[in-house]
Amino acid sequence: MAYQTTNPYNNQVIKTYQNISDADLAQALTATHQQYQDWRSQPVSDRAVILHRIAKLMRTEKTSLAKVVTQEMGKLIGESEDEVELCANIADYFADHAADFLKPTPLKTGIGEAYYQKQALGVLFMVEPWNFPYYQIMRVFAPNFMIGNPLLLKHASNTPGSAAAFVEVIRRAGAPVASLINLFVDYDQVAKAIADPRVVGVALTGSERGGASVAQTAGANLKKSTMELGGNDPFIILDDADMTKVAAWAPAARLANAGQICAASKRFIVMADKYEDFLKLLKTAFAAVKPGDPMDRATTLAPLSSARSKATLQKQVDAAIAGGAKVYYGNEKIDLSGQFFQPTILTDIDQNNPVYNQELFGPVASVYKVHSEAEAIQLANDSSYGLGSAIFSEDTKHAQAVASQIEAGMTFINRAWATLPELPFGGVKNSGYGREMYELGFDAFVNEHLVVNA
Ligand code: NDP
Repeated sequence: MAYQTTNPYNNQVIKTYQNISDADLAQALTATHQQYQDWRSQPVSDRAVILHRIAKLMRTEKTSLAKVVTQEMGKLIGESEDEVELCANIADYFADHAADFLKPTPLKTGIGEAYYQKQALGVLFMVEPWNFPYYQIMRVFAPNFMIGNPLLLKHASNTPGSAAAFVEVIRRAGAPVASLINLFVDYDQVAKAIADPRVVGVALTGSERGGASVAQTAGANLKKSTMELGGNDPFIILDDADMTKVAAWAPAARLANAGQICAASKRFIVMADKYEDFLKLLKTAFAAVKPGDPMDRATTLAPLSSARSKATLQKQVDAAIAGGAKVYYGNEKIDLSGQFFQPTILTDIDQNNPVYNQELFGPVASVYKVHSEAEAIQLANDSSYGLGSAIFSEDTKHAQAVASQIEAGMTFINRAWATLPELPFGGVKNSGYGREMYELGFDAFVNEHLVVNA
């Protein structure tokens, strides 16, 4: 695959990058493995200083870093700035908490004094997608930098500039060159690197297909892996939902990042007596967006990340309609040359519809009418995915009881999805396994080393 930056707003190719050779890959493996060994004798507190410096530098250079993302994958400039800020917060969080997370844990046993100590495992390989080009790297980099696990990165082929900018900023803040090495590699080289004995784990965020392929290579080589894959998250509106709260959250839950978020709400499951009101409020919000240049702060609808993303989404929407879905709003051409997709509301999607169990990675909402809470829960769980979910109800205890019945890694009550360093992020079923962020993310690649002193 060719690593290339193409601005999806004006379709201009900005830069093409050369793939590296196998010899370059071998060098990167050697350098990161050496880094792992060097770090073992260095105090964690030294790395906390660097990680805080990275956070500070990212905040100082927020404007220029954000511009790279917006030009490369089309995100609204304000959203790109928020992403840089989130990365800085993640860096600060792991710099602040690592020492605590690394404290030995005493264990009760009848055979003496026992504890386990979390230790670095070695070099990790990470494969990341284009939708949050910096954040996806940071949520693996920050905890593993503190632990002492160096990283090799294969970023998406359409966001090479963001990968390069990320590496550049951490180096200027003082991170050793081999703490994170970005590689312009093909899939075969990824498999080769994962098979190398010096690589001990693999973290991937991406599609089910990419995840299954990389997880297979990791499994065949007995390497630990975490998989953050797609989602088809339900947004459940119960009988006692406050519709002003629903109106405040639902549109952005679907439209943020032009709908290209794994944990975005994608299936809106609405009790019958709120169904018409909900459709109207969603349509009003969807119709109010202003497509345009994502660098312009007045723009509220960004283009999709690439021509390929747009073509895939259009194909899915066409198939949904051919399969009996109705277009309540949208699905019309936007008269701009970029990869724009009009926010669209689909209804009447039945179980036989081709998109019933597909992730629509763009600004398309599927709205379902249900007649009972049991039906809402059944529909929410009738998916091969299980990433996030949202429930709207004025009775918190009741909403929590419903949450406990939802097959998902995350549930948000009376608000849309969120990702913060202090909250574990991840899913179940085909949405993957493992968690990122918080202490659970920190623990993803550590050796819980048991020591027993008789
Ligand atoms: P892909 O799986 O196609 O790509 C993601 C990354 O994996 C890219 O770097 C890609 O490289 C690489 N890749 C894909 N297949 C292989 C392979 N066989 N070997 C090595 N590397 C591979 O995903 P999309 O581009 O479609 O990204 C969007 C998807 O990511 C959505 O499904 C979304 O839901 C999911 N996602 C999940 C998140 C989560 O936290 N759960 C968060 C964000 C997104 P290349 O670009 O070169 O093909």
